[in-house]
Amino acid sequence: MRQAGRIVAIVLEVLTRQVRPGIKTKDLDIMAAREIERLGAKPSFKGYREFPANLCTSVNDEIVHGIPGERILDEGDIVSLDLGAIFMGFHGDAAVTVGVGKISSPARRLLEITEGALKASMAAARAEARLGDISSAIQNYAESRNYSVVREYSGHGIGRELHEEPQIPNFGLPGTGPVLKRGMTFALEPMVNAGDWHTRLGDDHWTVFTADGSLSAHFEHTIVITEAEPEVLTTV
Ligand code: MG
Repeated sequence: MRQAGRIVAIVLEVLTRQVRPGIKTKDLDIMAAREIERLGAKPSFKGYREFPANLCTSVNDEIVHGIPGERILDEGDIVSLDLGAIFMGFHGDAAVTVGVGKISSPARRLLEITEGALKASMAAARAEARLGDISSAIQNYAESRNYSVVREYSGHGIGRELHEEPQIPNFGLPGTGPVLKRGMTFALEPMVNAGDWHTRLGDDHWTVFTADGSLSAHFEHTIVITEAEPEVLTTV
């Protein structure tokens, strides 16, 4: 899983460097496929429940599961890049939201808050803590700063399958849920909206939008539980 995670992180770094005004989301998907293959892995998302691409690209008010296509990224957009790869039977899964060229300060702040929520969730994720501690850390971090967390989509266990039990909601109560054990592997993935938390599904039956049209960001890491801070697997 360390190798799978490392591959995901390397590819996301390559893609992040390519994000600029004028690039098509489809071009990022093609690069993702090429880099994953070059590193000897396979994309986790392609064909998963018939998802048609290697990468999810979710722009502005799109939260998750955007399908790369002909859309051209504009200066000031934010784009979430969510990528999974399988290597020797194990998955890694990570996401990052990137500004396209120069972005507004509210957009910049949303990115900082969402990344901060991921860090807060990792600080709560250690052996003998409870699953609800992770969920509440995300919710508290975002809501105390007047942002909302998406409720219909969650983090998850990960390993031989991309999505394993348990689901890890981005909201919840501390001190509840299963006790975390050393060696458990999770994908933690706060999705934070600048407006309300409600979502709507797009006509393609994949892309998830904020119901109110507000901006949304998404940061994700695959981690392993230890006695101290978790080890991040999706890092280079
Ligand atoms: Mg995930």
